[in-house]
Amino acid sequence: MAPLTFKVAPKSKVQLAKFDPRHDADLDRAKAEADFVKLTAELDELQELLFGAGTHSLLVVMQGMDTSGKDGTVRKVFSQVSPLGSYVVSFKVPTEDELAHDFLWRIHQRTPAKGMIGIFNRSHYEDVLVVRVHDLVPEAVWRERYRIINAFEHGLVQSNTIILKFYLHLSKQEQEKRLLEREQSATKTWKLAAGDWREREFWDAYMAAYEEMLEQCSPAEAPWQIVPADRKWFRNYAVAKTVVETLRTYKAEWLAKLDTIGVTRLQELKALREGQPTSGA
Ligand code: AMP
Ligand code: MG
Repeated sequence: MAPLTFKVAPKSKVQLAKFDPRHDADLDRAKAEADFVKLTAELDELQELLFGAGTHSLLVVMQGMDTSGKDGTVRKVFSQVSPLGSYVVSFKVPTEDELAHDFLWRIHQRTPAKGMIGIFNRSHYEDVLVVRVHDLVPEAVWRERYRIINAFEHGLVQSNTIILKFYLHLSKQEQEKRLLEREQSATKTWKLAAGDWREREFWDAYMAAYEEMLEQCSPAEAPWQIVPADRKWFRNYAVAKTVVETLRTYKAEWLAKLDTIGVTRLQELKALREGQPTSGA
């Protein structure tokens, strides 16, 4: 079967033009949509295990051009997950306070604690994307950030954070279509931003920045996955399936941990009851 997402191998060369944004792995749309519903339910169950076991956290990083569907993917894929166990952070233009610190300062504060799913809608990667495209810092500064990011993520992985990074790969034509749709649809005009049309003029520079980010920051422990994103149903399915399949590999371990916790709790309760007179005695 054709892959759903393309996982970037460590140190490999990436040419985004070679990845078809309309790729759909020859899936039947109706079947994929039906499976998607089941996957979101399974994700909810897996999140509960993650929370109960309390040994790992999950960090999901979403990057992609304007209108590539970062918000939509998050909303759909995590729709069934309890708000008690997950949260989304949308990283915007840094505030003055944030800019007065190193670029990871605002990021590290929001990484997920054990048991939690943290979703980054944009992320520390903006600091090698928009920052590079618009020359916001000298090249030597953003270039060093690949290594800083890899070291940072290595630290997270060492602390049992499962990291999934999705680059939503949209075509320039599909972006134009979506931007025009926003102008036409009464319910979508609020999403309009003149800046999105302006950013479009930097398309090639963004692609170059994305390619280098994908190449430089895909160690085996936290690789990027390229998600074909021109078809929304496929994009959602591919991300949901990847998240669920990743978490499934921990399921047995988490269930065993829950058993151990359960036994300990029962013993504590028993000890408490034996040490005290029973009620009514
Ligand atoms: P949106 O996600 O559409 O709400 O837009 C957020 C904006 O913040 C985008 O234009 C990003 O490029 C910008 N942004 C996010 N992080 C940074 C950063 N570290 N430096 C500069 N701009 C950023
Ligand atoms: Mg936007």
